[in-house]
Amino acid sequence: MATGASGAIPFYRGRFAPSPSGPLHDGSLVAAMASYLDARAHGGKWLLRIEDIDTPRVVDGADHYIMQQLQTLGMHWDEPPVWQSERLSLYQAAFEQLKAGGHVYGCACTRRMLTGGPYPGTCRNGLGEGVQPRAWRLKVPPGRRSFIDRWQGPQSQDVATEVGDFILRRADGLWAYQFVVVVDDGLQEITDVVRGVDLLDSTARQQTLAELLGQVPPRVMHVPLIRDESGRKLSKQNHAPELDLSSPVRTLQRAWQALGFEPFPAADIDEFWRKAVPHWAARHGLGGAR
Ligand code: GLU
Repeated sequence: MATGASGAIPFYRGRFAPSPSGPLHDGSLVAAMASYLDARAHGGKWLLRIEDIDTPRVVDGADHYIMQQLQTLGMHWDEPPVWQSERLSLYQAAFEQLKAGGHVYGCACTRRMLTGGPYPGTCRNGLGEGVQPRAWRLKVPPGRRSFIDRWQGPQSQDVATEVGDFILRRADGLWAYQFVVVVDDGLQEITDVVRGVDLLDSTARQQTLAELLGQVPPRVMHVPLIRDESGRKLSKQNHAPELDLSSPVRTLQRAWQALGFEPFPAADIDEFWRKAVPHWAARHGLGGAR
């Protein structure tokens, strides 16, 4: 990270990166709110990226619906949104770069051949005569990776032994989330990733990839998830109801409380954000926040 003499980040670029597999719900709003507050508290930019790369999961119209939900809650992005489905040539170029550096290999393993643990590296040393690759994997360099998460504290993971060589391009030909998220964070010059704690475990993989692509990995903050009564993450797969926008302030206050803050009186969404940003800045020691 390019930091000035004081250690301050000279510019801040955050992003919210929803997958358009359905409308936002209370759980996804918590992640959106945290990333929005952090960007505003830093006087930085907040970008919207529609992660529609996993086409079988994309629901028609969900992208525009999500954008409408964000606008209704007063969360406005600072640059035109990007859609991953329109950036395939950028992913191909980054893939070629890794391939030229000897960092990727074709893998012919089928799901049935794998046990579910870390990938054992079966295809690392090449495929047999005439064997076609199904997927493409990253040759993960050895070593433990440590980083500080701004919410969760110090973290470390040995990607090579705990995860193994992970997939960049899937057997169905689609680019993997782990890969495109890193390419995009790099190209969009994202300095700060703020998202749900379910993605904490992906961070070391993403940092590994970022470095192999010659990028400086962004700082990270992983915020708590909302769980349903049975302790499961609130998610589209678990049929979480979409955001209630009949009372936007009440919906914002619910996400705010999920982030551990006390509710405060706000007559409308503008007043909510005006008051929430300095609270966030104070909580996270951003004294000079604008
Ligand atoms: N698209 C991912 C999701 O909706 C989030 C990606 C990210 O923030 O890194 O879960």
